[in-house]
Amino acid sequence: MEQEERVKTIVPLNSHTARACLSCGLVKTFEQFNQDGCENCPFLSLKNNKEGINECTTPSFEGLIALINPQESWVAKWKGFVDRIPGCYAMRLTGRLPPEIIQQLREQNIDYVPLDNDN
Ligand SMILES: [Zn+2]
Repeated sequence: MEQEERVKTIVPLNSHTARACLSCGLVKTFEQFNQDGCENCPFLSLKNNKEGINECTTPSFEGLIALINPQESWVAKWKGFVDRIPGCYAMRLTGRLPPEIIQQLREQNIDYVPLDNDN
């Protein structure tokens, strides 16, 4: 029950401002990204970073997967989402992280897998 409550708070409340993280596909509102950043991608430093949110998230995505219990979900295993926080994820999205951000991630040995060519 507690976990369901937690998911509700992450689910975007207003689909007009919903955006998907280009690194992990997590969908939240612009305000939620601004408030908490992306829980899966602290290295993007999106918290209180409107410019970063514009660059590293996209409003152009399709389909939502609700991930409630990543450890047990077959969708999570199929998508490789087992380590991600419960929430809503885009099934498909358009766009990639800016090259300079990808470069920064490489320097930190973080693997960025673009989500926009996932067929
Ligand atoms: Zn993310």
